Amino acid sequence: MMENSQPRFSNEACPKYYKTSLKWSYIIFIAFFIVYSVSIVMFGHGEKFLYVIPWLAAAGLSIFFLDHMHIRWSTLVYALISIGWMAYFIYTYGWNCGGVNFMVPLMLISFFSLYESIAAKIIFVVVLFLIRIGLFFYSQMYGAVIVLTPEQSMFFQILNTFAIFLNIAIICIIFSTNIQQAEKHLMLYNMELSQQAATDPLTTLYNRRKMTEIVSNHIAANPDHAFCIAMGDIDLFKQVNDTYGHNCGDQVLKSLAVLFVEKTLGLGHVCRWGGEEFFFFLPEMNLDEASELMNEIKVAVSKLPIVYNDQVYHVTMTFGVEEYDYRSPLDVLVKQADDKLYYGKKHGRNQVVF
Ligand code: GH3
Ligand code: MG
Ligand code: MG
Repeated sequence: MMENSQPRFSNEACPKYYKTSLKWSYIIFIAFFIVYSVSIVMFGHGEKFLYVIPWLAAAGLSIFFLDHMHIRWSTLVYALISIGWMAYFIYTYGWNCGGVNFMVPLMLISFFSLYESIAAKIIFVVVLFLIRIGLFFYSQMYGAVIVLTPEQSMFFQILNTFAIFLNIAIICIIFSTNIQQAEKHLMLYNMELSQQAATDPLTTLYNRRKMTEIVSNHIAANPDHAFCIAMGDIDLFKQVNDTYGHNCGDQVLKSLAVLFVEKTLGLGHVCRWGGEEFFFFLPEMNLDEASELMNEIKVAVSKLPIVYNDQVYHVTMTFGVEEYDYRSPLDVLVKQADDKLYYGKKHGRNQVVF
């Protein structure tokens, strides 16, 4: 038993897209801080330039530590930088400069995080909401430390909006591309899985499960249509294995599969029922037609040169054919075909019993 059955994300398991979106958010932050610094000097508040340096350093260091820190800590640092800057900005310039928008990318990032439970995410949003309300009332009660002109306020509004929109767009592009790719991989993987679930790996023919599904669907869709089934078994196959080896036996199975596909093309389906038994489904055929086809196949099997290690081998097969009686379920028909097959085995092999 596994000691810890609860799956946990390690840093190595952190999806690359999550780190990429954090990195781009920081890059936008840094660009924003630079433009902000230039504009605040131009607005005549050069002393405020010093206050931006810790934020710039924090964003730069966070990019550097993204690959070295557990992703949970990276998210927490990102949240602290966003909330801290937002609080500082609103405290300094008041509510009307668009500082509160910094919450939106933070909410997006935290909601796309795979690491936290839904409950943790809801708690996080509630905390964000309370911070927002707190900052709003604080700014209404105490006003701004620096009162900007309407033009300067508008400039910050535009700068903040631009930085936030760019940030949101990049996060959304990264996450949606990732979801699309994941979905595509999942679809291809599912297709591969269902293909594998329906196929016998040695012969690449359908397996018993898939064939049962095909016949059952056919009966359900065409309950009053005639069809036949045939069961075929290689004669004295054990001897082939014992004399020439198991690999030679495998080559026999593969060569026969190719022959069967060729012979039933457009007429029916063939599957590897199990071991050295093959099952034929021949829709729209009556017993005479099916027996004729199976006889043709029986002759072709006996003439088929099977090449293995530069040697040529031949095998024969015995078949039992059964016609649908418009009543019996598939397992009963299979049993009847099997009985005929074993009758053939007892009476000399290399024949078709119908
Ligand atoms: P009969 O004519 O009565 O059918 O004789 P037989 O020897 O074919 O019948 P038996 O059931 O005694 O042997 C079937 C053999 O098929 C035994 C098994 O080793 C072999 N076999 C089943 N699956 C495979 C396979 O995937 N590869 C190979 N090489 N042999 C297989
Ligand atoms: Mg057998
Ligand atoms: Mg056999």
